[in-house]
Amino acid sequence: MKYSNFFLPTIKDAPSDAEIISHKLMIRAGMIKQSSAGIYSWLPLGLLVLKKIEQIVREEQNNAGAVELLMPTIQSSDLWIKSGRYDDYGKEMLRITDRSGREMLYGPTNEELITDIFQSHINSYKDLPKNLYHIQWKFRDEVRPRFGVMRGREFLMKDNYSFDYIKTFIRMGLTPISLRAETGPIGGNLSHEFQILAKTGESTLYYDKKLETLNPETIDPNELQSFYAAVDDQHDEKNCPISNEDLKISKGIEVGHIFYFGTKYSEKLNAFVQDKSGKNVPVHMGSYGIGVSRLVGAIIEAYHDEKGIRWPLEVAPFKVSIVNLMPEDQDCATKSSEYYEYFMKNNIEVILDDRICSIGKKLSDNELIGTPYQIIIGKRDLKDNLVEIKNRQNNESEKISSSSVIDFINNKLKK
Ligand code: ATP
Ligand code: MG
Repeated sequence: MKYSNFFLPTIKDAPSDAEIISHKLMIRAGMIKQSSAGIYSWLPLGLLVLKKIEQIVREEQNNAGAVELLMPTIQSSDLWIKSGRYDDYGKEMLRITDRSGREMLYGPTNEELITDIFQSHINSYKDLPKNLYHIQWKFRDEVRPRFGVMRGREFLMKDNYSFDYIKTFIRMGLTPISLRAETGPIGGNLSHEFQILAKTGESTLYYDKKLETLNPETIDPNELQSFYAAVDDQHDEKNCPISNEDLKISKGIEVGHIFYFGTKYSEKLNAFVQDKSGKNVPVHMGSYGIGVSRLVGAIIEAYHDEKGIRWPLEVAPFKVSIVNLMPEDQDCATKSSEYYEYFMKNNIEVILDDRICSIGKKLSDNELIGTPYQIIIGKRDLKDNLVEIKNRQNNESEKISSSSVIDFINNKLKK
């Protein structure tokens, strides 16, 4: 991608209604634009990241044996009346009437639809278990949409109806904490949440402070689950298994939620199968949600500094930026194109900053959008056959010979 062809409207100052850093940075880096309260357009840079996260989630679902389908955003009220949730769901559900006066709704979740699909086609215990998922936009008319994409009204969620969740989050560079939780309107009696530690989170967590010292690059998912953690309403001081010195209280962002709801939906929506003895029994169900669009904000909360975003490699919109400080200089232009063509040919996601603008703006925009590896090409260095490489993850810079740049980057990306 050439910056001059791309659409990357960076902004110097965040709007005053953006309260938290990820929301500010997403607007400043030209990733999203609000269209109305809690509803956003995903601009090209934001969409690249959203798609990366979606793809990690998809790959881990598929690896775990789940099967993808796609259910609609607009649903008919019929099934919701049957399940008893049409009235129960309350004002969070957006209700729509179509031209023939039929009551429709924009799905806040999909238990009814999936149960209906299942019951039309599955009749025997021999066809179980089945694990189906989709990644689809949801609408919930939240009382207080805020924090940008973290609590939107329209948002992207992966939901399926058992898995290795932990690995999905680790691949995004995050340290997930799994905890027992309240079940809320989705129902059932067993539920777990996955939380990411962040000062701006909306949940209060009690947890073993050792969790903070773990490195997502080397973490063992089983070890991770052995540490104590609980949301505030589940934490019981008297029965807490760890000592007060080891206990820490802090805020977290909920990025995933899993529920076991037994036969709550299958009984009402007629999802019965024949068991071994030929008897008709309602199937047991669970649902597993991941907040795909919320994760974009959550990752930025975990990876940023005063200059902008510092993307973990796996979710970065581009792996490499070529920052040509002097596009009008022949040598700088030739060198930049040489690298650019190599990366393009080898499917390494690259953005070539070929804009004619001040050096200061160039450097600060690239810091803001947070590309992990930045190849900075200036006229004076190039005369000595040198190029600067900035690692945005640790903010270290080094000058290396212009002929070793490709090897250097290939080496970094291999790790
Ligand atoms: P919360 O307590 O944050 O409202 P929830 O319990 O209502 O979440 P679920 O119904 O379990 O959420 O949805 C699964 C996932 O979808 C959540 O873990 C979260 O990551 C994401 N999510 C829920 N509501 C929103 C929202 N308004 N905006 C963005 N993501 C959301
Ligand atoms: Mg909610």
